[in-house]
Amino acid sequence: MAARTDPLLEIAPPDAVGGPGHQVFPEVGPELFEALRRGGHRKLSLQVPAGLLRNAHDLAAQFRAETGLPVALVARACFGACDFPSAEEASGADASVVLGHAPIPNVRLPMATYFVEMRSLGGDPERLAGIVDAAGLPRRLGVVASIQHLDLLPRLIRALEATGREIRTAPGDRRLQYAAQALGCNYTTAEAVAPDVEAFVFLGTGRFHPLGLAFAVDRPVWSLDPLQGTLEAPIDRARLIARRQLVVAGVRDALHWGILVSTFAGQNRGGMAAALQARAHARGRTAEILVFGRLDPSDLTGRALDAYVNTACPRIALDDGELYSRPMLTPPEFLMALGELPLEPYRFDTFH
Ligand code: SF4
Repeated sequence: MAARTDPLLEIAPPDAVGGPGHQVFPEVGPELFEALRRGGHRKLSLQVPAGLLRNAHDLAAQFRAETGLPVALVARACFGACDFPSAEEASGADASVVLGHAPIPNVRLPMATYFVEMRSLGGDPERLAGIVDAAGLPRRLGVVASIQHLDLLPRLIRALEATGREIRTAPGDRRLQYAAQALGCNYTTAEAVAPDVEAFVFLGTGRFHPLGLAFAVDRPVWSLDPLQGTLEAPIDRARLIARRQLVVAGVRDALHWGILVSTFAGQNRGGMAAALQARAHARGRTAEILVFGRLDPSDLTGRALDAYVNTACPRIALDDGELYSRPMLTPPEFLMALGELPLEPYRFDTFH
């Protein structure tokens, strides 16, 4: 059944128009350092993902030594390619180096940015395909990967095809740089092939992406870790969705709402927040728009509000909702709570 939708849910962060340029590198190495030296910059800011924090200071020292430039290390954790350092955080830097993320094509960058995707070739495709085959996965499979493991994909696909499987991949929308890439807020590469496949294989590590993918597509999602050589059985999608539907049902009568808006350029859906506020008012609710940079659960305690709707990173509601003292909904779930969208089929909150 096709999901009923609402034009309000298509409101995206403002498009990248003009703005400083960016360059992309697979890894930290001579090519990147040469580009930085040639860039004529005064100062660099360096942003390191949570998984590399242990090496952050060695990396900053390496960038200083290789480029001869001052380097400001951005201390806060970075969760995605949408939350690169702002001009204020970069403390006078005129260029950023962002490690571990690909650019998001429709996000406007505040300064010249060097994305270092930290691509890995780790993993033996024949062995991985053998693991998939031995687990008896269906014949028609969709495959998506996190940015770090995209380079393994062509060889893995050939190896899977050699087991008699038909593999589907697709380009995503304007928020995804590469075909078959998965972002926690955008699985359009999977949605495009979902009608033609019986299951998905997510190639990568951790639970973050497979969990989002399980929300986004109504197909079993198997997680294939190329480094450990492990295949995890599908997440129970029905249970995930039932839990969210319970949260929605619990706030159908909530009167006072907070609508959360992020200041990060790649997460800012201020336009959607205003449209949601108008909907809330039309349905007899109050709704206050609350603007934040990095959201902490304590920011929302003690407020005279019954529930929240989050227009920033969708994963705040879906993964961390239990950290907040009041129910936290995604925008589609809010429309379900207002009775403007049905509970079924469940609609994943996605950024376009
Ligand atoms: S909005 Fe969330 S899932 Fe999307 S890129 Fe940003 S941090 Fe990742």
